[in-house]
Amino acid sequence: MLELMSKNSRAVEKRGVFLASNSALDFLNTEWPTPHGKEDFFETDEDVFIWLRQAGLAAEGVEEVRPTGALFKAARALRAVLRSLVQSRKAGKTPDFSELNAFLVAAQSHPQLVWTRSKSVALETVRAADTAEEILAPVALIAAELFSTADFRRVRRCGEQTCVHWFLDTTRPGRRRWCSMATCGNRLKVKSYRQRLKKSRNHRSRKNRGN
Ligand SMILES: [Zn+2]
Repeated sequence: MLELMSKNSRAVEKRGVFLASNSALDFLNTEWPTPHGKEDFFETDEDVFIWLRQAGLAAEGVEEVRPTGALFKAARALRAVLRSLVQSRKAGKTPDFSELNAFLVAAQSHPQLVWTRSKSVALETVRAADTAEEILAPVALIAAELFSTADFRRVRRCGEQTCVHWFLDTTRPGRRRWCSMATCGNRLKVKSYRQRLKKSRNHRSRKNRGN
């Protein structure tokens, strides 16, 4: 019974969208507008843990943070900071990084020697994960790396007008236009095909009228 319940609860776990080729940009994509207002992946602390686990950025064994609600509030705050910085950099400005730097204060880690199961010695990185900011530190760190190393011409919004997804173009030619070829790229292909079809029909009917 217990096993069934845990299987069921896994089955209904919501899925984050990971198509940005960069976790900091995936983090931005956790909020999107709908005709009924904004949708937000982060509504509870558990949502943030789910997202961090799916992104491979969760601290092992940490499933709770006090006070309740601190984590999703901090996640939303970090996301707002990142959104403003990304938009500012895209606009060619030189934004103030102090708010992101404040998050980076929590990105503290230290190396530690451990014995592995196969009885060899490994050097692991241990990081603090007690506060909301410490739990979110890997996201802040990836964002900091993005700002300091990425070519921002390759940081783009999806080319589909109604889509709000950001992505990092990691392709060699650097011509990626869509967050996802399967959804937005395909939607636009169908749209332009229909437009071409309409044009050629109009053209034909004009021709017919001309005859
Ligand atoms: Zn898109």
